[in-house]
Amino acid sequence: MRPIMVAGNWKMNGLSADAVHLTQAILHAEMEPMRPEVVIFPPFTLLHAVSQEAKSSALRWGGQNLFWEASGAYTGEISGAMLRDMGCRYVLIGHSERRQIFAESDAQVAQKVKVALLSGLTPVVCVGETEAERAQGATEAVIHRQVEAILPLLNLEASQPNMIIAYEPIWAIGTGLSASPEQAQAVHAFIRGLVAAYSTQLAKRLLLLYGGSVKGNNAAALFDQADIDGGLVGGASLQVGEFIQICRAAE
Ligand code: 13P
Repeated sequence: MRPIMVAGNWKMNGLSADAVHLTQAILHAEMEPMRPEVVIFPPFTLLHAVSQEAKSSALRWGGQNLFWEASGAYTGEISGAMLRDMGCRYVLIGHSERRQIFAESDAQVAQKVKVALLSGLTPVVCVGETEAERAQGATEAVIHRQVEAILPLLNLEASQPNMIIAYEPIWAIGTGLSASPEQAQAVHAFIRGLVAAYSTQLAKRLLLLYGGSVKGNNAAALFDQADIDGGLVGGASLQVGEFIQICRAAE
């Protein structure tokens, strides 16, 4: 019923030649018509190169962050309109690296979701607990707090959800230690339940991506879970063969 999505978050990696090489490799992987929907999130500096390669294809791209003001004296920041100008359809918001390294709060994440929606972008909002929070049994409390901060921005009038949520347990990011399919499924079902309190229809249609050490050899088992609708892939999205294997696991 729900489409499946595989997204690649390149983080702060890659130069122009890498962007051309990676994008062309995805385009040549013969996934036409594209199933799953494949989205890449390159650094801002590579958005133009990616857009030139992918503009007449089914491949989509997005920004890794944006600022909550429309324009003005905010040195070093990027607006939603600027991302749209680069052909972005999506934007990552609240990635744990932004929350932890740049101290982004739930309120700031919500503000960014708001401007992304106003700019015509689909936010992919990341949530997830630390290893210590999981050990304390606080996983659901943390996810509840992070998700509740953005759910008032869900458009209850629309037939499709105006955002995507990615569950990325921090202990699984870049560690090679993915959550098990059962662990991930449990949190995804919990998130869908939180959304159902606002709208059961939108909850059924909401895309929930899992992120955290998704690789070619564990993707299929994760994507098989009832409430996992695809993946947000970090390290493996920079390795062409691995990323395509993950996409194939979602076909
Ligand atoms: P890894 O796939 O490298 O664990 O990163 C996940 C992630 O942070 C995607 O946003």
